[in-house]
Amino acid sequence: MIIKFTKNVKDTQIKHIESILKKQNFTTTYINGDVYKLLVVIGDTTQLETKRLNVYDFVEDVINIQKPYKESSVKDKRKIKVGNVTFNDDNIVLIAGPCSIEDEKSMDLLVPKLINHHTHIIRGGAFKPRTSPYSFQGIGKIGLEILNKISKKYKTPVISEITDVRDIDIFIKNVDIIQVGARNMQNYVLLEELGKTDKPILLKRGFMNTIEELLLSAEYILANGNKNVILCERGIRTFENQTRSTLDISAVPVLKKLTDLPIIVDPSHAAGHWEYVESLSLAAIAAGADGLMIEVHENPEFALSDGQQSLKPNNYFSLVDKIKLIAKAIGKKL
Ligand code: PEP
Ligand code: MN
Repeated sequence: MIIKFTKNVKDTQIKHIESILKKQNFTTTYINGDVYKLLVVIGDTTQLETKRLNVYDFVEDVINIQKPYKESSVKDKRKIKVGNVTFNDDNIVLIAGPCSIEDEKSMDLLVPKLINHHTHIIRGGAFKPRTSPYSFQGIGKIGLEILNKISKKYKTPVISEITDVRDIDIFIKNVDIIQVGARNMQNYVLLEELGKTDKPILLKRGFMNTIEELLLSAEYILANGNKNVILCERGIRTFENQTRSTLDISAVPVLKKLTDLPIIVDPSHAAGHWEYVESLSLAAIAAGADGLMIEVHENPEFALSDGQQSLKPNNYFSLVDKIKLIAKAIGKKL
């Protein structure tokens, strides 16, 4: 951190700031330049209320060098393993399945087809955080148990969204990745509790949240000890209403620069319409995303949630073929 003082700052005032910081174990170096008077502060400033230094009228500016999300900004080429699937820079991970698990029979029909078409992880919502309380809310615990069965039967990892901190145990028991949805990205109690587990967490960006806020939410999980965090861009709310959300493709390269946590893209919730899912998927992979999460349903017209944005299996398979071509062009494996 660098503190920039006003031109008329007094020596006693600089000494005062230095002594406050030294008491908190920071090392300081004063630079008395021709134009600027600066105090360089060395140490972990993440827990320091740096903005508070602005209360002094002789402090002109406080410049933070250290990122507030210190755990996620660590660049140690993290690899996150989920069963036999690894999220790393060399391959693309495909997650697919229905928005909601409706029953075991429909999962048994869809899942083998998805697995035969390069799908690594099966998704399915059991507890659905719906915008309207009158919409289908998911089949709950039974849905998680169906996922667990599917996972064992087809030897594939499964993912489902958690909405309540009290459900952590049943999620740990039944799924391989716990999804935190857009609506819960800032549910800090839930994030802290998930941080105390070692389950991989897929953290979705809230539709009203910045990239920095997403990383600070990831920080709640990482700082509590769970280093298995996968980030997901799923579109943000803008003035544009032709799509359900606006997919922020820029988030992919920006996050790649700021963190080495894997970043996947959910084109289904961003588009809100199945016809746009293919373009957004291909753009995301070309932009460097580590994977995709796509909603697929055997009969979207009868889906209990998000049918309008779900791909029919055949459309998903032809998308996978195109993803393969892009993956090859950018030197990644699918
Ligand atoms: C979902 O993945 O089914 C979902 C509800 O997504 P989001 O939290 O991004 O809206
Ligand atoms: Mn959905």
